[in-house]
Parts: sequence; C-alpha cells; structure tokens
Amino acid sequence: MRIAVGGFQHETNTFAPTKADYAAFEQADSWPALQRGEALLSAFGGMNVPVAGFIDAASAANTLLPLVWCSATPSAHVTEDAFERVMAMMIEDLRAAGPVDAVYLDLHGAMVTEHFDDGEGEILRRVRAVIGRDVPLVASLDLHANVTAQMVDEADALIGYRTYPHVDMAETGARAAEHLFRLVRSGQRQAKAMRRLDYLIPLTAQCTLIEPAAELYALVAETEGRMLGNGRVTSVSFTTGFPPVDIPECGPVVVAYGETEAAAEAAAQRIADAAREAEPDFKEKLWSARDAVAHAIRHSAPGKGPVVLADTQDNPGAGGNGDTIGILSELIAQDARNACLAVLYDPESAARAAQAGEGARLTLSLGAKTGGAPDERPVEAEFEVLRITNGEFLATGPFYGGSRMSLGTTVRLRHGGVQVVVASRKGQCADKEMIRHTGLDPRELGILAVKSSVHFRADFGPMASEVLVVESPGPNTADLAKLPFRRLRKGLRVTPMGAAFGG
Ligand SMILES: [Zn+2]
Repeated sequence: MRIAVGGFQHETNTFAPTKADYAAFEQADSWPALQRGEALLSAFGGMNVPVAGFIDAASAANTLLPLVWCSATPSAHVTEDAFERVMAMMIEDLRAAGPVDAVYLDLHGAMVTEHFDDGEGEILRRVRAVIGRDVPLVASLDLHANVTAQMVDEADALIGYRTYPHVDMAETGARAAEHLFRLVRSGQRQAKAMRRLDYLIPLTAQCTLIEPAAELYALVAETEGRMLGNGRVTSVSFTTGFPPVDIPECGPVVVAYGETEAAAEAAAQRIADAAREAEPDFKEKLWSARDAVAHAIRHSAPGKGPVVLADTQDNPGAGGNGDTIGILSELIAQDARNACLAVLYDPESAARAAQAGEGARLTLSLGAKTGGAPDERPVEAEFEVLRITNGEFLATGPFYGGSRMSLGTTVRLRHGGVQVVVASRKGQCADKEMIRHTGLDPRELGILAVKSSVHFRADFGPMASEVLVVESPGPNTADLAKLPFRRLRKGLRVTPMGAAFGG
C-alpha cells in the first residue's frame, strides 16, 4: 500500500495568555521540531508519539509517503498564519505524493485557530478534498480531543488514546495502522456512531490510573472486537475532552466503528451509559496552596517518598507558562524543608544564575513574568546556585520516555530548605530526569511540587507518599465553574453534577 503520513498537533486552551505562531510549530520542545520529507520517517525512532507507533507498524510492508508533521506546546489559539502555512505544506506534499491507498494523520483533536473553532475538522476536510471519498483517512487522537461532528464525518476512523498519563501514544498509532490496513484490505466502509456526554470532566479527574476513568477505559477495551447485535465492533474511542475551550463542541465524546450500524451504535451507547453513570465520581478535591503546603510539611518524612503537589493550573501542558509562584512562595513562607518545585520557566533568571556560576549567591526576582497570573509578583529573594546544565537530556519515564528534551539553560537554586529547578524553555514536569539531570534525586525529597496536572503521575506517582491537587494561580482553571465560558452549547454541565450552561 501507498500510505501518506503526516501530523499537526495542538491542544488549544482558549483562555491561555499566548497564541501558537508558526515558530512554535517549527521548533523542538519536548517533541521534535517540524518534520517534512524523508526525515519525518526516521525522526521519531523509539519515541512515545503516535506517528512513531504508526510508522513502526506500517513501514515494513508498505510505501510510506511523508507529508508534514509538527506540534507546538499547548497555548491559546493557533494563529491563522501558522495554520495556513502548515496546511499549505501538507496539501502540497499530499498532491506531490500522487495516488495513495490511504492517509494517516497524527492529530490532537482540540485545535482552535484564530479562524476556525474546529481546527482538526478543517484539516480533515482539506485532506479529504484532495483524496476524495473512497480513500481511507484515519487519524489518531489525544484522549483530550474535543471531537466534533465534522471530524467524525470527514475521517473514516478516529482512534483515541486510552491512558492519561498518555503512556499509549505510540501504541495508539499502531492501533490506527491496524484499523487502516483493515479498511484498505476489506475495501469496505465501516458504520460510525457518536455520543456526546452532557458534562465537562476536570483534567485532574480524567486520570486513568484512578477511578472512575480506570474502569471506563477497561470497558472501552473490552467492547472493542466484540460482536454486538449483528456485527463486530471494530474500534471504540472515548475522549474525555479538553475542558478550557470555549466552543460549542467542547467536551467528552464516544466514537465507535463497526461492521454494522447496530454494532457501532450499541458500542457507543454502552460506553456513554457507563460514563453518564460515573458523573458523580468525576468530582475532585482541590487544595489551596496554603493548606497543601501545611499538610505536606506535616506528612513528609525521610524515606517515605515525597508528598507531591500538582500545580495543575500552571501546567505548561495545558496552556500555562510554568512560571506562577503561588506554591513556591507558600513553601518559602512556611519554611518548608527538603522541598523542590520543578520546572519553573524563567529564562532571564536562569541566565543570570548561570552567569553567576555554581556556588554563587545572588538576589533574583524569580518567576511571575509572563502574565499567567496577573496579580502575582516575582519572588524576590537570595538564591544559591547549586547546579547549571544545558537542559539537554534523555527522558526515561513512561510518558516522555525516549524523548530528547531541550529545556535550554537550566539551573537548580536553593533558598533555605526550598529548591527550584528553573529552565529557559517551558516544559511540563512529567519525567524524573527533568529534576535528576540537575543532580537531585526526587525520591529523596520530602515535598515535590510539579507544574503538571496528571502526566507526572506516570513517573512520580510510584514514589509519591501522597498526591494533592492544588489550586494555585495559572490559566488552566481547575474549577471549571470559574472559567468565563460564553460559547458552550446550552445545557452542558460545566462541572460534574454542576449547573447547566446557559440554563
Ligand atoms: Zn492529552
């Protein structure tokens, strides 16, 4: 088979402070830089990325025709310029590839651009317009996709992750490949079914390591492949959605495919019913920074593993800039011992500390520079420079595993019993190496605060004595009822069991 392979990934938080421009897609972050041409096929070896899993599964027996692949760190809207430039490449490459038997795209599924509410719907529409109705078009999606009717309509199949932390990204690419092979070989269309849930699920409650998501995803896996009614269910995906997105089609969706319409409908209904029943269990407890730090100081003890504080609202993986200082100033104010916050984004302070050198002491005004929390002021204090690195290392945890990270000049600083890992690029703290490469073993800490919502649980969960989700300043509002939504569909409950929007 001749299969075209591309990708265009963005998770848009419409309430975040900064947009994703073309440069954000062009450069490397925790994922590779923009890839085009033959280089795309070898850029992802061994990485936990959907396109890597797809290429591994498909390259031996098929001719892969590379399009463009790129991603940017989550942020506010993708600029019109960035979207149009990337799509011009994708369409040009697709036309140049000549006739193809199928197309695979590595998409996120929550892209909002300056000019389209439904970025992926538009990507799929444009690709479909080139290949026509008869060539299978399959996309893998993030678990945080806000799946739209247009996406379901334009794609022959949408295949979503089943884990959060996303340890199955490459595996999802491989599942997309299997489904695509089946479509091409059978030469037959599959029936589709879609169900929307009527409530948004807070990100931290979507974790599949805890209930109720663990059980729901077990049901998803168990339903796929079954005979339901008169046919086999060939694929089931449940995307729990990316909530901070002010568009009518925001929210959780079930998409199922089957040999018959009845099979697809029954599968989608089964998951939707279970997810509706689970609504009360998706409510979560949020801690204030003050209470969380006080609790952590009381409960941390040597050899026990750190009490982990999730600074979810400033998660750079969800539109935060990674530089708010709510938890950091609370740790300092309460004189925490053996505590560390990672990773704080502050290129200016990292450069000054690096220039001062290891062992130096200098007064810094740390963090709170990018406006992620307009009321915050930087932490003004004297810090000792414990370690300086170039921020280049190989991630080893289950989530980022295999990625070459480049955080730019990175320093580890200390004030009293509180340490901070400060980087020159934004990065969600979801891998031990982000701390360990600065010479500190996070297992030895009493308190660890991470700029992450859930992905940290993959690598830090097993060492943690306890995990507290903290409501400290940042744009990734954890209590969804506090977001100034204006455009959601009427009747959608903004929090589990909460009030209906526009009602
Ligand atoms: Zn995600």
